[in-house]
Amino acid sequence: MQARFQAPWADLPTSLQTALEPILSANDFPAMLTAEQVKTVKSISGLDDDALAFALLPLAAACALTPVSHFMVGAITRGISGNLYFGANMEFGGAPLQQTIHAEQCAVTHAWLRGETRLLSITVNYTPCGHCRQFMNELNSGTGLDIHLPGRPTSTLGQYLPDAFGPKDLAITTLLMDPVHHGYKVAQADALTQAALEGANHSHAPYSLSHSGVAVEAADGTIYAGRYAENAAFNPSLPPLQAALILANLSGKDCGALRRAVLVESSKPMLTQWGATQATLAALGCTDVKRVTF
Ligand SMILES: [Zn+2]
Repeated sequence: MQARFQAPWADLPTSLQTALEPILSANDFPAMLTAEQVKTVKSISGLDDDALAFALLPLAAACALTPVSHFMVGAITRGISGNLYFGANMEFGGAPLQQTIHAEQCAVTHAWLRGETRLLSITVNYTPCGHCRQFMNELNSGTGLDIHLPGRPTSTLGQYLPDAFGPKDLAITTLLMDPVHHGYKVAQADALTQAALEGANHSHAPYSLSHSGVAVEAADGTIYAGRYAENAAFNPSLPPLQAALILANLSGKDCGALRRAVLVESSKPMLTQWGATQATLAALGCTDVKRVTF
């Protein structure tokens, strides 16, 4: 089992430990449960869907990177496939606070990067901040997304975000998590660049049309690709590097030990990710960063 899960593991009910042990004992546990695993875990532990998501929150929160706040937030989101995805807040010492990833953004992006096309609910151990409510309003589940919080009745995003401003107000019809492929190509055939290109091709940037993707290579050579997720209110947009860091962190990799990274974006974008990508990676100790354009 990954070291970060050991402390919260000790506090789980025995029946849940029994159910999760075969899944979490793998060192490469990807911080998600497939629909099949959810079914098995529910049957062994006796927990229903909601109780299971709440019970998993301490494990999700254990994935938090909090050098600034030391405040660990966990989130579990359920996709239409029935899979459950972990998320946690991620802060980066040395980079501006604007580069921070919130737990809800992390769980949502995690699900999106693993191929989920719609979310049904999100369970969080603290109430979602305004930034996250706005971020989630970009999703194709819209204001109908169920939000589960400890000690509160289930509410929808619409109840947490009244008078919402979102993509429809800007006449945008392709929403976050809608399957897209923009068809960009680059000449470079190396795996890291091609992974970043895939990110760009699946990115959500209907406002600036500045599609972009970032791929990072972890210390063991594994590649993690992220996609840009733009937001109708602009500031809650999640840069492509952050998405790649989410996948690397949740896969158990050290974001402070990345070997290299590639950003793929347009040669003449309305806005560029280049400066922020370089700066945040430099704060993480990674200076082998390339920009490839289409
Ligand atoms: Zn938040």
